[in-house]
Amino acid sequence: MKIICIGRNYTDHAKELNNPMPTEPVFFIKPETALLRNNEPFYLPDFSNEIHYELELVVKIKKVGKHIEKEFAGRYYDEIGLGIDFTARDIQDELKKKGLPWEKAKAFDFSAPICSIFINKNELDLKNINFKLKLNDNIVQNGNSNEMIFDFDDIISYVSKFITLKIGDLIYTGTPAGVGKVKIDDNLKCYLNNELLLDFYVR
Ligand code: MG
Repeated sequence: MKIICIGRNYTDHAKELNNPMPTEPVFFIKPETALLRNNEPFYLPDFSNEIHYELELVVKIKKVGKHIEKEFAGRYYDEIGLGIDFTARDIQDELKKKGLPWEKAKAFDFSAPICSIFINKNELDLKNINFKLKLNDNIVQNGNSNEMIFDFDDIISYVSKFITLKIGDLIYTGTPAGVGKVKIDDNLKCYLNNELLLDFYVR
């Protein structure tokens, strides 16, 4: 399986990092080795001094597809969950300046914590999913799917023009404003419509 991550999909977040508004989805890939499951602790890597959390809605692909038309994109997923797109911001800033690929800053081991339980889309209003991150019990990110520049169906249609989607692939759909640094012993709690889906510590 693979993890596809969308960048700059929320206007306020693109602004906070001084990025231009995208006219089409920006995406990159993390390998399977990036997954961090079962609320296991995230160990700060020694190659960065600035690991940022980015809370994101995650779509789980349930059917193989390529060149998926937007109107049929809904057939390719049933479940939505939450994940963190951990980012070595100091490294990413360097790579961006040099125009180099972001993998070193984005795709490192355990950079993609993922929830164990996903929510069936029939239980959700896909255009009004609230999600939030509490860092040490303070709300630091509070987003809603209605703020996405590209919605789930746009993303699936766009990405599948380039890359075949396979069963079990995960798409991290971008983060709202409020990203920030984590430090040792931080606790991260992630809620989808007030349901706690992720709860883990930084070590
Ligand atoms: Mg992200």
